[in-house]
Amino acid sequence: MKPAPFEYLAPESLSSALEIIAEYGDEAKLLAGGQSLIPAMNFRLVQPTVMVDLNKLTDLSYVKNASSGELLIGSMTRHRQLEYDPLVKNHSPLIHETMPHIAHAQIRNRGTIGGSLAHADPAAELPVLLVALDGRVRMKSRTGERWVNSDDFFQGIFTTALSDTEIIVEISIPKMPEGTGYSFVEFARRKGDYALLGVAALVRLDANDICRQARIVYLNAGDSPVKAQGAASLLLDEQRSDELLETVATNVEQELSLTGTIHASVPYLRHLSRVLTVRALKQAFQRASQIDN
Ligand code: FAD
Repeated sequence: MKPAPFEYLAPESLSSALEIIAEYGDEAKLLAGGQSLIPAMNFRLVQPTVMVDLNKLTDLSYVKNASSGELLIGSMTRHRQLEYDPLVKNHSPLIHETMPHIAHAQIRNRGTIGGSLAHADPAAELPVLLVALDGRVRMKSRTGERWVNSDDFFQGIFTTALSDTEIIVEISIPKMPEGTGYSFVEFARRKGDYALLGVAALVRLDANDICRQARIVYLNAGDSPVKAQGAASLLLDEQRSDELLETVATNVEQELSLTGTIHASVPYLRHLSRVLTVRALKQAFQRASQIDN
């Protein structure tokens, strides 16, 4: 199918993009990489009166270190850059390692971090990483700007804290504390497909390998990225053992409200949650370990 007719505008500056969306409100749609918007328009699920192309705003595409130690990522930064940029690899290796799981290379060449976060697909990887890494999103409107924490940003299926008159301009990712191990694992039916289920795990161990902080976040396990907080709390003040990881996985199975699809039944997804949780935690603990093993 082809999209319904629309007016196409390609502002040369952020301020004029903000003026346009202030004028048109929910009749306008921002175009970033187009990898989610264009299919939705072709299916006529979305029919904007005006499309506001952000691709001329090249100053929104960057990765840099802030003096505070955070990684700052411009919203028009392509998935491809997050995959290959040495700063990302060094500062947030979890992001670097996860990017190849997103779709195919052609899609990663166009897709942007701002577009993925704004789209808020429960099956997408970047929203889960933002929550796992405790990142923040900076949004601008004609009248000002605000920062929103990841926990407050995602508000439901394809729904975020963004208003129709705001544009995501920047994402901030704090540096992982010393002694933190990380892992992302997912399972998709074919390489490049959206995953049936995926998990990001972070654990921080002290010098005796006692877990002091743990976060486990799932994709495709609810309307937004889902934190298994109860299960993660079982790791606190404990050393890693196979029994402990199995207990955590059992709790994850109970904590997640998994819904079956034509591709996977609920028992299958529960089993998958067990397997992926144990795999992710094993790798995160191994990477965090302060003791030679
Ligand atoms: P667009 O499609 O341009 O926009 C998406 C939405 O975000 C629109 O509503 C738009 O108005 C809004 N928007 C865009 N930029 C901003 C901004 N700066 N501020 C506010 N709102 C904004 N994604 C995954 O995570 N995992 C996958 O496995 C995966 N598989 C895919 C497979 C296929 C075949 C395709 C076509 C896509 C897949 N995607 C996947 C989606 C892809 O990652 C998209 O790039 C991403 O979801 C949207 O980013 P975009 O830059 O293309 O945004």
